[in-house]
Amino acid sequence: MIPTVLPTYNRAPLSFVSGEGSWLTDDRGRRYLDLGAGIGVNALGHASPALVAALEGQAEKLWHVSNLYRIPQQQALADMLVERTFADTVFFTNSGTEALELAVKMARRHWHQAGQPARTEILTFEGAFHGRSIAAISAAGSDKLTQGFAPLLPGFTQLPFADIEAVRAALGDTTAAILIEPIQGEGGIRPAPDAFLRDLRALCDETGTLLILDEVQCGMGRTGRLFAHEWAGIAPDIMMVAKGIGGGFPLGAVLATESAAAGMGAGSHGSTYGGNPLGCAVGLKVMEIVAEPAFLEQISEKAGFFRQKLEGLVAQHPDVFEEVRGAGLMLGLKCAVANTDLVQAGYDEHVLTVPAADNVVRLLPPLNISKEDIATAIAALDAAASRLRPET
Ligand SMILES: *Cc1c(COP(=O)(O)O)cnc(C)c1O
Repeated sequence: MIPTVLPTYNRAPLSFVSGEGSWLTDDRGRRYLDLGAGIGVNALGHASPALVAALEGQAEKLWHVSNLYRIPQQQALADMLVERTFADTVFFTNSGTEALELAVKMARRHWHQAGQPARTEILTFEGAFHGRSIAAISAAGSDKLTQGFAPLLPGFTQLPFADIEAVRAALGDTTAAILIEPIQGEGGIRPAPDAFLRDLRALCDETGTLLILDEVQCGMGRTGRLFAHEWAGIAPDIMMVAKGIGGGFPLGAVLATESAAAGMGAGSHGSTYGGNPLGCAVGLKVMEIVAEPAFLEQISEKAGFFRQKLEGLVAQHPDVFEEVRGAGLMLGLKCAVANTDLVQAGYDEHVLTVPAADNVVRLLPPLNISKEDIATAIAALDAAASRLRPET
């Protein structure tokens, strides 16, 4: 008999009832160190007092009014995002997938508006993940995501990751945009080299092509800069944000330049819940904290410590780990054993990690994790790796 909850998830037999900072407590009172943070969502950890206060303060006043009216919290968050990024304008969604949908619509409408309606094609990359809607799986294109869901949405071409010659060869008269994650998350913590991102930007500038960055996982401070593309010294035309921006409250956004968004006038797009007062009150507090230079600074400092310790772990367990990847607190351990075995051994050691493609285990802790908790994490991962050592 089919479970009452549609069985689309391969769930661990763990059930959490409360959290505090980087720690979760399950229904049997056991504590787990959370290096997954809801897949990079709980940017400020669990039950952050500042976010609880923001949520409760707004909950007592007003939850929802619809976008028929002005929403001051939404306006304030948009202003703050514009002030801190390349963007001139922002649309709020409830998820990363919805942000992808708008990014695709915006790019196509841009060229329609510009009198070049044939420019509809979007170049994407193998190993990408942009969500689970038909447009999002069509964009990523992998068999794993698309099998059995045809007909897919036309207009997407997948290219080898970080291969500039492939991009050059694929760019044509009908190309509207290039869509890429600066660091692939689900794909296995694969960073696009800075030089590749700069070359992409240059190619887009030469041809007028729009550059769309999916920073749903790598954005919002995850790499130690507010957005990951800042490391390459480039800016996109359109950017998708979600996950960390709500700190656990469902919130996403599309940020764009005035030119990229030129086709999106009144009536061109909408969302019932997108940008509601509750979500934006929380998002505003997340932004206030994360965008603070001192906060971003401490991410890089702790990330350096974490990475150094992880390199040590790899050296100690060459039969379990191959390498450390990623940037900031978006780290991956490429495994020599099955990544799911390491995640499982982590459960036994009370440390939570997240598997990704390419046999990688992801480490995406809260951005305010303490050094002490990082040291605890290393000890737990060390013990987990020892459990997996082939018998000698
Ligand atoms: C998680 C993710 C998405 C989809 O976001 P949802 O909120 O699950 O819809 C899109 N792109 C990237 C890079 C992601 O990591």
